[in-house]
Amino acid sequence: MNEQNNDLFKKLGVDIGDGKINIDFKNPRDYTTDKHNRVDAAMIGGGAGMLMSPQPLMDTLKDIKSKSPNAHIVFMTPVAKRFTQNDAKRLANKEYIVLISGRYEGIDERVIELEVDEVFSIGDFILTGGELASMVVCDAISRNVSGVLGNNASLEVESFEDSLLEAPSFTKPNIYENKAIISEYLKGNHSKITDLKRGLALCKTKFFRPDLYKKV
Ligand code: SAM
Repeated sequence: MNEQNNDLFKKLGVDIGDGKINIDFKNPRDYTTDKHNRVDAAMIGGGAGMLMSPQPLMDTLKDIKSKSPNAHIVFMTPVAKRFTQNDAKRLANKEYIVLISGRYEGIDERVIELEVDEVFSIGDFILTGGELASMVVCDAISRNVSGVLGNNASLEVESFEDSLLEAPSFTKPNIYENKAIISEYLKGNHSKITDLKRGLALCKTKFFRPDLYKKV
């Protein structure tokens, strides 16, 4: 357990559930055998930019696996399927996950072939490095670990459950800047409210995510 790392993640807004999850960092530079401490090299076969070399990364992973043989190794990369809520839920059951954050133009493909169990993209855009992608995935997984959220029921009515986006939500006051809450929400008829929310969720999904709507 590394209190300092957990504190850092808390400050960055990643929910680590007050000790229910532990986060540690490994720097491949600490494992390089290069006399100049390098972890990158020019790409073979052409291409602009540098690539993370296999040796420092592989030795980092071997060190982790020597202590945690069941570690699930994930590489964050645009060359992958999009990370989803279902992945977050599935990975929340893993005991130990390693998130590899690429830098430069990414990592040597052989590391993926030899050690990586799964690859994920967080969207159709290119980040400078994988750290933010790893943090996004880390946060999404963490809140699905039992006991991390104050109320586990929150997970059951969120967007992406049953391929639907969430219906509009309101809190006090009932009228704000001349805008009223949907009146049905105030009447206390829970089955009616549930039906209405489902209808509104369908409308939102159809408008914002026709790809999801097709699955409903
Ligand atoms: N040359 C790579 C390509 O075209 O696919 C992009 C490399 S990017 C500059 C450096 C690192 O950022 C990647 O190795 C990856 O770890 C991370 N990264 C960038 N965009 C990402 C995305 N959309 N999802 C996940 N990771 C991403």
